[in-house]
Parts: sequence; C-alpha cells; structure tokens
Amino acid sequence: MRFAGQIVLVTGGGSGIGETSALSFAAEGASVVVADWNEADGQRTAERINAQQPAREDGRPRAIAVRTDVSLEADVRKLIKTAIETYGRLDVLYNNAAVIHPGRLEDIEENAFDRLMSVNVKGVFLAIKHAIPHLRATKGRIVNMSSLGGLTGQANNTVYAASKGAIVAMTKSLALDYAPDGVRVNCLCPAGVSTPLLNAWVRRQADPEQAEQALRDMHPLGRPATPEEIADAVLFLASSQSAFVTGVALPVEGGASLGY
Ligand code: ADP
Repeated sequence: MRFAGQIVLVTGGGSGIGETSALSFAAEGASVVVADWNEADGQRTAERINAQQPAREDGRPRAIAVRTDVSLEADVRKLIKTAIETYGRLDVLYNNAAVIHPGRLEDIEENAFDRLMSVNVKGVFLAIKHAIPHLRATKGRIVNMSSLGGLTGQANNTVYAASKGAIVAMTKSLALDYAPDGVRVNCLCPAGVSTPLLNAWVRRQADPEQAEQALRDMHPLGRPATPEEIADAVLFLASSQSAFVTGVALPVEGGASLGY
C-alpha cells in the first residue's frame, strides 16, 4: 500500500501500459485521475478501478476519467482543475500518453511530425506546467514515459525516437529545477512491451512467427516485457522506495540496450 491516501494522475490511462499502471496504483491505495483523449477507454479504466477497489471515506470515487487531449493547454488546465476540485491534492503525475508514427523520414508529412511532437513532447510540458504548483505542495513525483529508442535511436522510427529523446532531456533538466522543491522527476525507457497494440502489430506482419521471434531475440531476457513489469518500474519511481533517485532514464528492457 505504497500509495495509500495519495492522488495519482495518469495520462493515456485508457489503454496499454497506462491502464495497467493506473490499476496497479489503485491496488496500492491511490485514487486515480485517468486522462485520455479516448473518452470510452478512460471511463473503462476508471470503472474497473471503482469496481475493484474499496470506496474512499469521503464518498468520492476511487477513480475518475477526464477526457483530455494532452496537446491542448485548455484541456490540460481543465484536467488539473478537475483533479484538484475532486481530490484536493496531487502526489504523482505520470505522463504516459503518446502516439507513434513509424516510417522513413522522407515519407512522413509535416503535419504528422507536428502532431507527434505536440502529443509526446508538448503534452508532457503542459501537464507538468499546470501540475507543478500542486506537486510542490506535496513534494510529489513526476514519472515520464520515454523509450529505449530515446536513448539508443531506433530504425524506421526517427520522429518517435526524437520525441522520446526530448523526454529524457526534459526529465533531467526538470530534475535539477525541481530538486530544491523536493519534487523528483524520472523517466522510464522500455523496449518491447507485449500490449494489445504490439500483439496486433505482430499479427499484421507478413510472417508473424518471424516477427515474434525477432521480438524475443532483441531482448537478452528472451521476451518483451509485460505491461505489469513496466508498471512495477513506474510505481517504484513514483514511490518513496526511490526517494534518492531523480533525473534518471531507467531502462526497463530485458537487457535490450546491452552489447555482446
Ligand atoms: P502503449 O501500448 O505503449 O501503452 P497505447 O497506444 O495503448 O500505447 O497507449 C497510449 C494511450 O495514450 C492511449 O490510451 C491513447 O488513447 C492515449 N493518447 C494518445 N494521444 C493522446 C492525447 N493527445 N491526449 C491524451 N491521451 C492520448
């Protein structure tokens, strides 16, 4: 129960890693604000938490969903306002919402580049900008989702990798800026994670069996991560167990970044 009585905001909490993490935070006592631009997905995560977890003593739900496009400042302002009006405080901001646009650079349209950067990078900037006064008040924690590609580069995925590299730099810079306030800022760098999205991608490949094998081979531990394993690392960075850790880009990648 590392998050008993705490309020955790998860962007992109409607599916995949964000959803799994939201459920894990709630299972350890947190009340959770689920922000996702997909309203139905966000609601589903909140409903799952409310069905699974005991109610709060003040009668408020254990989880609420707030439809949010993290790339729009008006949406983010409203999100933080709703979180504070509902729960009165904020302890953890977990920036997980992101989009991906693989492809050769010369095939990517300018507006696709702008859109990806505005969700993956500006979205994190906006959420932190509006949450930080509340995080200062609780000596809160910020956890940002980066990617192994943001550290090492990634073939056929330049724009996404660039956005995740920006997250690493933002994390380290803000760790310095907010350390005097007692607010820690860290990020995670996963490689393959077997989410429904990745599994669907594998099934779409010309040779799904070979794609599956390649996915296993890229991780020395012999398989992609489960969403639960990524959530474990998110909760660690958000908890007091990492009290002396700030500004790190933590690889959670089964050894995928190692050499021979
Ligand atoms: P993963 O498998 O890595 O978890 P997903 O695509 O399942 O990836 O999760 C990303 C989440 O972020 C989705 O729930 C998606 O709806 C959400 N998301 C994407 N863009 C935005 C945005 N602009 N604002 C809020 N949520 C977003």
